Amino acid sequence: MAPPMTTPQPVLFLGHGSPMNAIEDNEFRRSWQDLGKRLRRPKAILCISAHWETRGVYVTGSEKPDTIHDFSGFPRALFDVRYRAPGSPELAHRVADLLDTVRVHVDPQRGLDHGAWGVLQPMFPDADIPVVQLSLSGLQPGAWHYDLAKSLGPLRDEDVLVVASGNIVHNLRLFRFNDPKPYDWAERFDEEIAEHIETRHHDGLLGYETLGTDALLAIPTPEHYLPLLYVLGMQRDEDEVSFFNEQVVSSISMRSIIMGQV
Ligand code: ZN
Repeated sequence: MAPPMTTPQPVLFLGHGSPMNAIEDNEFRRSWQDLGKRLRRPKAILCISAHWETRGVYVTGSEKPDTIHDFSGFPRALFDVRYRAPGSPELAHRVADLLDTVRVHVDPQRGLDHGAWGVLQPMFPDADIPVVQLSLSGLQPGAWHYDLAKSLGPLRDEDVLVVASGNIVHNLRLFRFNDPKPYDWAERFDEEIAEHIETRHHDGLLGYETLGTDALLAIPTPEHYLPLLYVLGMQRDEDEVSFFNEQVVSSISMRSIIMGQV
């Protein structure tokens, strides 16, 4: 039996990794499919993806967002994917209202990037739940993103599922396509971050630049890490935290997080 409506939606951080995970039958994609079946069906989804960096804060306002294929050098089948979930101008404006300390631009044209549809398609293949994306304001420090996320907290009580999509460790320059063996520093950093999450040591996670040499290798650019701070910002005292896909593939950590009750 479904829990009462008063149960807040959980918040998810999904390590998305290679775009191929969207269509390849592998353990990551299967875990997203399983999760989609376990979740209470939300009214709408707000996605914060590593792949929409902006100056200033934007939300997608389209009724029918396109599927953006923001990558190159992948097989045709990946470019053929269309994720036809509707948008929700209503949710876009609700997000803008909640973020009243910043100016929020509602973009009527922008579609869904692969950080969003790559995980949402396996989770919700019927594409019948409206999706809105919130951009990452690229020039802002960690604490700013965390505070912004706190303002989005009420969405959890309004039956909105927040899906943050990135990777805790993401260094493409050092990624070895033919050798998935994890780098020592990547595993070490991934575990350090996990420990901070488990002990709710958010301050250390916001100032990720100060976490030492491993951090410089793990987060050469912040866009894949920052979505994690949105999940932390929306965490409540009573939320249970669980991890899945706790794997490092070469220089990319797939560790994913569920905050709250599924
Ligand atoms: Zn990515």
